Amino acid sequence: MTLKSLGDLPVLPLPESFALTAAYNDDPFHEKVNLGQGVYRDNNCQPWVLPSVREAEETLYNRQVDHEYLPIAGDSKFLTNARELLFGPQIASSKNITSLQTVAGTGANHLAAIFCAQKLCPKNVFISDPTWDNHHLIWREAAPNVMQLLYPYYDPSTRGLNFEGMLAKLESSAEENDVVILHACAHNPTGIDPTREQWKKIAEVVGRKKLFVVFDCAYQGFASGDADADAWAIREFYSMLFTESSSPSSTPAGMFVCQSLSKNFGLYGERIGALHLITPTSTSPEGAKAHLVQAVRAEISCPSLFGARIVHAVLDDAELRSKWQEDVQIMALRIKSVRALLKSELERIGAQGDWCHIEKQIGMFSFTGLSSAQVQELREKHHIYMLSNGRMSLSGLNESNVAYVARAIRDVL
Ligand code: PMP
Repeated sequence: MTLKSLGDLPVLPLPESFALTAAYNDDPFHEKVNLGQGVYRDNNCQPWVLPSVREAEETLYNRQVDHEYLPIAGDSKFLTNARELLFGPQIASSKNITSLQTVAGTGANHLAAIFCAQKLCPKNVFISDPTWDNHHLIWREAAPNVMQLLYPYYDPSTRGLNFEGMLAKLESSAEENDVVILHACAHNPTGIDPTREQWKKIAEVVGRKKLFVVFDCAYQGFASGDADADAWAIREFYSMLFTESSSPSSTPAGMFVCQSLSKNFGLYGERIGALHLITPTSTSPEGAKAHLVQAVRAEISCPSLFGARIVHAVLDDAELRSKWQEDVQIMALRIKSVRALLKSELERIGAQGDWCHIEKQIGMFSFTGLSSAQVQELREKHHIYMLSNGRMSLSGLNESNVAYVARAIRDVL
């Protein structure tokens, strides 16, 4: 169908989390609460610049750095640090891993989707039900010929992982070279991750069926407060599927890891991330990298400097790095403590139902179980903003507003 006039194009709604933030900002009510956007807030619900990042900024400023173009693949020093953070120093030095700097985690997901659509040509991409809404949009825009299929993930009856359903779907429907997107930790929006035993079983299925994994890692450090522990699944997949000892009959064509440094460095607006490609040990990733470089050249020519410099300055300095580890722990612990606070407040005031899941879930979000009608009522009646699927971003809670939020939830149940 050809377009007669640009005026015929319909106005599309904003993605929900951005629309919610805009509505929240416009709301004059003084007790309003923003539980919509996935960004960390301090105990006063204010943006928090990590002290380690602030220190790195000052160092950079004093160093009077220049503003030259980066290479197309990005800042190699940053990439070494980012790769080590994700894989640990030993795996990170393997020859079958190559990395490119990206426009945050979203850019990494987008580049992965473009590459898969053009070079791997899978029939299907398997996406968790539910997922971060942008996965659907990214794959629709970047890989329109790849069919999006959902695999079961959240089981509302247990408020836990539907592990059997997930594996059964992959076993019955996935074909060689199909893509499966996995959230490396702190699953968005459910806050539910597979156990280590379950991850091993997923890796076994992925290897046997030769599926292409796209790991999305947006919350390293947020799940447990420990960046190494949160990268466990990625490292395990590498060890099981991509080392000398991996069986060639169960080695997939490759694996992508999309790494966001937005949340764990609080560098949301700086748009810093990386895409890592892993190929079987007998093959070189360099040809694939050249094609990725070409895609980057066409899209952004080369990535931006500031975020890469900050992450490198923090991770390359032993003292700053350990300060950063403390900063990540502060964020993870605050989120854990508001989980406990909200659960105990809901129980204290007799809000109907079982609220244990709020404390059990992991990372920045709670999948509360509230219906979209209840979420709408929370917003219209109580000026509390959260996603219509019941996802609550816990960082918008603090000691001062948790009682208000709990009373409002009791009211809409
Ligand atoms: N993946 C997931 C699962 C996310 O939740 C997010 C952030 N909301 C991202 C990727 C991308 O984050 P960013 O582009 O800000 O790094």
